Amino acid sequence: MTINSNAVRHNKNLSVFQGASPGDRVLILAGNPNVGKSTLFNALTGQNQHTGNWGGKTVEAAFGTYFQSGTKYIIADVPGCYSLKSRSADEACASDTLCYTPSDGALVICDAGALERNLNLVIQVCEAMSDVTVCVNFVDESRKKGISINFAALEKLLGVPVVKINARKKIGFENMIEKTDSKYPKSPLKVTYGKTVETAIRMIQKSLTNCSFCLSSRYIALRLLEDDAGIWEFINSNCKCIDIPNILSSCTKARSYLENNCITREKLADIIAICISGAAKKIAEASVNILPCSRQKKEHAADCILTGKFSGFAVMFLMLALIFYITLRGANYPSEMLSRMFNFLEPKLYNAFLHIGINQSIVSMLVFGGFRVLGWVVAVMLPPMAIFFPMFTILEDVGYLPRVAFNLDRAFKSCKACGKQALTTCMGFGCNAVGVCGARIIDSPREQLIAILTNAFIPCNGRFPSLICIITVFFAVSGGIKAAFYLSITVAFAVCMSLLASKFLSSTLLKGIPSSSVFELPAFRRPQIGKIIVRSVITRTLCVLCRAAVVAFPAGILLWILTNIRVGGNTLISYAVSFLDPIGRLMGLDGTVLTAFILGLPANEIILPITLMIYSGDNVLMAENSYHAIYQILSSNGWTLATAFCAIVFFLMHWPCSTTIMTVKKETGSIRWTAMSVLVPTAFGIACCMLIKSVSYLFTIL
Ligand code: GDP
Repeated sequence: MTINSNAVRHNKNLSVFQGASPGDRVLILAGNPNVGKSTLFNALTGQNQHTGNWGGKTVEAAFGTYFQSGTKYIIADVPGCYSLKSRSADEACASDTLCYTPSDGALVICDAGALERNLNLVIQVCEAMSDVTVCVNFVDESRKKGISINFAALEKLLGVPVVKINARKKIGFENMIEKTDSKYPKSPLKVTYGKTVETAIRMIQKSLTNCSFCLSSRYIALRLLEDDAGIWEFINSNCKCIDIPNILSSCTKARSYLENNCITREKLADIIAICISGAAKKIAEASVNILPCSRQKKEHAADCILTGKFSGFAVMFLMLALIFYITLRGANYPSEMLSRMFNFLEPKLYNAFLHIGINQSIVSMLVFGGFRVLGWVVAVMLPPMAIFFPMFTILEDVGYLPRVAFNLDRAFKSCKACGKQALTTCMGFGCNAVGVCGARIIDSPREQLIAILTNAFIPCNGRFPSLICIITVFFAVSGGIKAAFYLSITVAFAVCMSLLASKFLSSTLLKGIPSSSVFELPAFRRPQIGKIIVRSVITRTLCVLCRAAVVAFPAGILLWILTNIRVGGNTLISYAVSFLDPIGRLMGLDGTVLTAFILGLPANEIILPITLMIYSGDNVLMAENSYHAIYQILSSNGWTLATAFCAIVFFLMHWPCSTTIMTVKKETGSIRWTAMSVLVPTAFGIACCMLIKSVSYLFTIL
């Protein structure tokens, strides 16, 4: 099929196809979550979509190109879904792209180890469109679990080509693409829903006979019977030629026919679901053979420990402490080396700039402002991120992350939030903006908003280096196990506060009944260490570092200007500091720290360097950035243990960075909720800091 320009114009998903030329073929990758769609997409297109052993990573469609036998294929990777009847925003994106994007076919990816469940979606896609190819992935893994599949039987029963692939090892791709060609006849299986429903379907189908759709008329009739809003939009925008009043009247007749036969809309949905899952069961029984296997028993035993009521939390805490310990230990030396390198380069750069005739003030601004803050951010951030991210990614690939979410599920539900918020919480540890986008996996808009508004409570990678620094400097000078332990407690506290904030929102502004959510625990998988290192260093560490560096250099320059330009005898920054000082003191901090937090809006990474730079006076952030030097600067500016406590708490709970705020605006489309995403964590942070300040004051007078 070549791209239909009319349909393209009417379909909002298709702007990406604008570069496509006639003759290009469009294929959509669909499937349940965590079946290897993004791995397959990356392997075909050379792109770098997020992959990991848990469902819910992909929240919007991605597009790429693949060439085979001189033909250009446009491949669309869509979020995972269990059904074409979408419930959440990510599922809606998947079903809309599948159903309403004119394509040359769908490749439905299945997990060989969970074929029966995956077939539910396959059957629905077969019902909607004729160009379907089923790709069975994870054959390597399922074989080890004693699962064997009769592919010939499966192909016969489904009526569409079935191919075996290994998305990780890039096996079976050519055959898979070839089978999408029209020379392989496809007569997809049609499930029957009983005499009454079938009659109603035919009544509507008759009114659709003169129109050509990219969806089957039977599928459209079925959706119309269910009064699906999306299908009406599709009909209205795609088919101007058709007789809408005729379709409407046939729908009314068919629905009253069903009601006369005691089939209400709810009952119809039940009948459809039961018939589809019944068909999936039958096909799986006829094509899958499962032998008893010890691996499943071992996985079950591991799950009992990792998700046990008490053991689950204990393992979680120990795992967190271990990761932090390795990060802290491993990051020390490289951090010191980088710091020395920047200190060595600084005077050289200063002299070189002067030598080529640049004005001394400008050189000071560039070197003691921009370069110094940049050096600080790189030296302090790069080593811990380069260690933390690969370890986090290994846990993700092994399948531990969804188990963490499973452990937290009960806690979130008891706060009347959605259990899936546990997953967006985990995403927030990487980046809050990603956590906010990830909330699309939550079906209920109320619970989605709660997840969005509370994600900033979770310390993102931009905040970790500063937290590590303050904890080490004030509470664990020896570093190592003690620092890792305190950092783990800090993270646990952040999660508790996000639960508290969720509870607060669900009992005030966002009252409602929690919806049920199903958690799928993926199989444990051996991580691909090489790929993980490349992925986490290139796509995570360097990306985050680039973003921080891009902000750090101009921030350093701005700060230099603010600390050097004098108006009325005082530096510009001193006005801001004195203005904010009374509020800062009430919170156990001071005006300098609050000014740094405000200037650090573009990126949390620069808050601590800015604080140190303002404290260091005239123009200089200390050249020596060892923990000892940092302690000297902070303590000589009145920092006590209580100040450090308040700073840690405010690092955990203050406004999100500008990227996250913009993401919240994009996701909610509302200024009100964007403002709330700033206000809620800030209000919690201020309240906690004031509480700590009052308690510490009480201790001093007692
Ligand atoms: P998606 O959610 O469907 O996009 O799934 P992903 O592409 O993120 O893959 C889920 C996990 O399965 C990742 O850890 C992949 O590395 C892994 N994976 C994907 N395909 C295969 C395969 O053929 N064999 C094995 N053993 N693992 C795979």
